[in-house]
Amino acid sequence: MNYERVFQEAIDRLHQEGRYRVFIDVLRNRGAFPNARCFAGHNGQRPIVMWCSNDYLGMGQHPKVIEAMEKALHDVGAGSGGTRNISGNTHYHLDLENELADLHGKEAALTFTSGYVSNEATLSTLAKILPGCVIFSDELNHASMIAGIRNSGAERHVFRHNDLVHLEELLAATPADKPKLIAFESVYSMDGDIAPIKEICDLADKYNAITYLDEVHAVGMYGNRGGGVADREGLMDRLTVIEGTLGKAFGVMGGYITASRTIVDVVRSYAPGFIFSTSLSPVLVAGALASVRHLKESQVERQMHQERAARLKQMLGEAGLPVMPSVSHIVPVKVGDPVRCKKISDILLVEYGIYVQPINYPTVPRGTERLRFTPSPNHSDEMMAALRDALLEIWDRLDLRLAA
Ligand SMILES: *Cc1c(COP(=O)(O)O)cnc(C)c1O
Repeated sequence: MNYERVFQEAIDRLHQEGRYRVFIDVLRNRGAFPNARCFAGHNGQRPIVMWCSNDYLGMGQHPKVIEAMEKALHDVGAGSGGTRNISGNTHYHLDLENELADLHGKEAALTFTSGYVSNEATLSTLAKILPGCVIFSDELNHASMIAGIRNSGAERHVFRHNDLVHLEELLAATPADKPKLIAFESVYSMDGDIAPIKEICDLADKYNAITYLDEVHAVGMYGNRGGGVADREGLMDRLTVIEGTLGKAFGVMGGYITASRTIVDVVRSYAPGFIFSTSLSPVLVAGALASVRHLKESQVERQMHQERAARLKQMLGEAGLPVMPSVSHIVPVKVGDPVRCKKISDILLVEYGIYVQPINYPTVPRGTERLRFTPSPNHSDEMMAALRDALLEIWDRLDLRLAA
């Protein structure tokens, strides 16, 4: 066996399909988000405007967050030095977990090194511990939830995206005495649509299931204190587990769950992805803590964010660009072909200094390849107009269709 050749052929297949991933080499400018620099195909640094960051509110550049991190670094040094069990249980972690439990109105919270790990570790552990557990999973659930569900080894049923009728069919067809877990997201980040959380909780009550909600694309951004869509809709107490990230709207890094004290204790005690991994750096935790606290109090970022997203959808829509319907802050523009999608992104970066990553299969279904714009409170009208004009020029150059 020529190992290298087999690996190379796997890469070649991606090239042939036009979905080989190229990572853009960037640096963000401190305090000046979404302004950044990139090194792509140039000597030295070139100014760019970022249009695809998940630092939705620019909190990664917030003075309070940076100050908290600097302070922690100078107080306790760089890393945590261990797993939570062996010397890495810093006071910052405990403060943050209290703050997160309070944010979601739950008894307890647990932090992980990422949202990915929190989903994988929690879902696989809960479903393993419940004897004969059956999992009901939305078909568009994130890869990290799918990994957790697979690793649990539990029987699983995938329901059509946000389809309550299909979900109920599957629940009704499962023996009443089996433990059931419904796993879904609030904001689906590639389309920008939102799950019918209340109705899913109603079904969970009717069929005696527990619920697991991924609010990764909503925490910090929705609800009066940034507790997510379930916070906005007054539904947090109806969910068994709420999961979030500290890496998107909170602008730092890490993931978490919030739930009852018992559920958090069982994950803390049984989940390998939690137990056998060095805990987050206290510097990151201090930054996340400052961010969560700030967004519990402050509405400005959330309001501006919604206003900016609505404005961009309107601007691109009025220009005839194929903006996909979205009820959230996500602004997807459909291209429908991986090669063109990458090409548009390349032209935007090289000729216009506009950075938006092409979104291709397997992140989205084939034929729905898109550009996914994430306007923040700091994206100005001028930046939006420049983006629209660049897209119109490229649409014309590549003979793409505009709406009438
Ligand atoms: C990004 C993402 C995650 C993973 O969170 P990280 O903190 O980036 O690991 C989980 N769920 C969804 C829906 C996501 O989009």
